[in-house]
Amino acid sequence: MVMEDIAEGLASLARRGISRRSFLKLCSATALAMGLDFKVGRRMARVAAAAISKKPVVWMQGQGCTGCSESLLSSLDPDPAAIVLDLLSVRYHPTIMAGAGKVAQRAWEEAVRQGGYILVLEGAIPLADPRFCLVEGRPFSELFIEAAKRAEVVVAAGSCASYGGIPAAGPTQAAGAQAVVKDKTVINLPSCPAKPSRLLGTLLYYLSFREAPPLDDFGRPIPYYQRFLQHDSCPRRGHYERGEFLKDWNDPKTVDWCLLYKGCKGPLTYTDCPRIWWNDGANYCIRAGSPCSGCTQPEFYAKLTPLYAKQEIIPEPNVFGLSITTAAKGITGLAAVGVAAHAAARFIAGRQQEGKEVKK
Ligand code: SF4
Ligand code: SF4
Repeated sequence: MVMEDIAEGLASLARRGISRRSFLKLCSATALAMGLDFKVGRRMARVAAAAISKKPVVWMQGQGCTGCSESLLSSLDPDPAAIVLDLLSVRYHPTIMAGAGKVAQRAWEEAVRQGGYILVLEGAIPLADPRFCLVEGRPFSELFIEAAKRAEVVVAAGSCASYGGIPAAGPTQAAGAQAVVKDKTVINLPSCPAKPSRLLGTLLYYLSFREAPPLDDFGRPIPYYQRFLQHDSCPRRGHYERGEFLKDWNDPKTVDWCLLYKGCKGPLTYTDCPRIWWNDGANYCIRAGSPCSGCTQPEFYAKLTPLYAKQEIIPEPNVFGLSITTAAKGITGLAAVGVAAHAAARFIAGRQQEGKEVKK
């Protein structure tokens, strides 16, 4: 790690209005969110600053709404878009790149030829018929598989890129990156849209350690997902336990009650949303009065729709607040979380050893 590189990286961030202090704060917060000591955050900041603008990224968009890019670009404090765009050398991104058509396609070809990049997928890959998604006349699935072969790591940003998301409920047999990438790590960052703090944290982690954070059985970073069951951290949980459920949106007396019968999928959703709120910490779905639609789960969207009605997949509560089915599922779930937490703890203990593993 060369001091000039660090200074140059920090100067580059400063030009984008991100001070050394706020970058350090961000890296420390990322380290803490990942369960690491905040001192590791300092080292992450140095390594990430030194790597600024050097690691190439190819960002491909399949079947989606561009909401994940929009989510990243609309964040503010500190601006993850600015950081991501500065941290990485973005070689191809259909929404933000200046070039279009054949010029853009040539940029993609050149980046793939050079290889060694982080490949980000936004949107799903239609597998039913290549004609469902064509780029410059070529099937998107073919292009993505070609790009994945030359990538260092694949990051699936958002629900569609992870498991097919909303397009998977349609006729295109839409699937996530892991359905076609079998020879390398795919880091799934599901939610609809992608959450900027998770994308940024994962990229900072990858740049620092040159490997994926510990992942759960669904390929999601454990620190952002499997550690937290929405239902267990919910501010409305007391009402659930007392059997107080909102049934009428227009009844002001029950406005803060449990949203189970308004379609809340919190009992099966693993997410950090109750702890790390959206929109730069402004709020998140349940606190804002909306049921959790389970957008971080592989079952989203087809198995969890309609969103504003209770689904059979969510068991009925009983007088103790938990049905027998839920309790049984809970035991299995807790065991799984316990195992995952143990694995994560061992992993983190390794990382804590003076941060030796932080690649220089
Ligand atoms: S069902 Fe939803 S609203 Fe009710 S306590 Fe669980 S997470 Fe909260
Ligand atoms: S609260 Fe639920 S629906 Fe809302 S973003 Fe989080 S996981 Fe998705």
